[in-house]
Amino acid sequence: MTRTVLITGGSRGIGRATARLLGTRGWSVGVNYAQNLAAAQETVVEVERAGGCALPVAGDVANEADVIAMFDTVEQTFGRLDALVNNAGIVAPSMPLADMDLARLTRMFDVNVLGAYLCAREAARRMSTDRGGAGGVIVNVSSAAARLGSPNEYVDYAGSKGAVDTLTLGLAKELGPRGVRVNAVRPGLIDTEIHASGGKPERAAQLGATTPLGRPGRADEVAETIVWLLSEAASYVTGALIDVSGGR
Ligand code: NAP
Repeated sequence: MTRTVLITGGSRGIGRATARLLGTRGWSVGVNYAQNLAAAQETVVEVERAGGCALPVAGDVANEADVIAMFDTVEQTFGRLDALVNNAGIVAPSMPLADMDLARLTRMFDVNVLGAYLCAREAARRMSTDRGGAGGVIVNVSSAAARLGSPNEYVDYAGSKGAVDTLTLGLAKELGPRGVRVNAVRPGLIDTEIHASGGKPERAAQLGATTPLGRPGRADEVAETIVWLLSEAASYVTGALIDVSGGR
């Protein structure tokens, strides 16, 4: 039976690597993106080449109507929903909290917290066995920042990921009896474009060298853990926060 997943922010970075790996396992993948359709289309091609089915799904996770439409599109196209990878997230330029303006703080929490909660809510509504669903799996993509705090860089981002961890702990207890496992992966310094979007393209390489494993991680190394959590091999794992951070 083909299983179906929606990956928010599936078009680039960790989301794309997860989509590609799920393609090798024959999954159908809704590849959500916010702005970059070309990247989403490239990811769709990679999933199909790997052996899966895929579809670009536009939408801003911070917008409730977009989120509902994203889930509707995946269910209508593939006929079912088995999993959510709650992965879309942003950073912003490094600075102390004292220099952050309201617009930045609002967008950070809208995308990383409200977006994650809205997507988890939609998944819960559709997959919970007490609401007619068939059960499923949610993997939230948090960050090692949730336990490091990211001082002088982005305490806003770190706090938003703390909320994702807490969502994971609570929702695992709420949805376990309803057939849905909920876990989080906390990547460390992973070589993706997110660092450039925060104004520091060399951040992963520079700081990665200072970690116990002496290098930044790759998106496919995070994808391996996400895909394991989605699989039956992790059938007794829920409420876990799993670091993929090279020991950082
Ligand atoms: P990335 O390479 O910058 O990719 C971000 C993805 O999220 C893109 O597909 C982007 O789509 C999408 N996105 C951004 N804002 C969105 C929104 N409002 N609605 C829907 N999609 C949106 O990031 P990444 O490094 O793969 O990060 C993925 C997740 O891992 C994030 O939650 C991040 O916080 C977390 N993480 C990353 C690292 C790291 O070192 N890379 C470490 C710890 C945690 P568009 O291109 O269309 O905007």
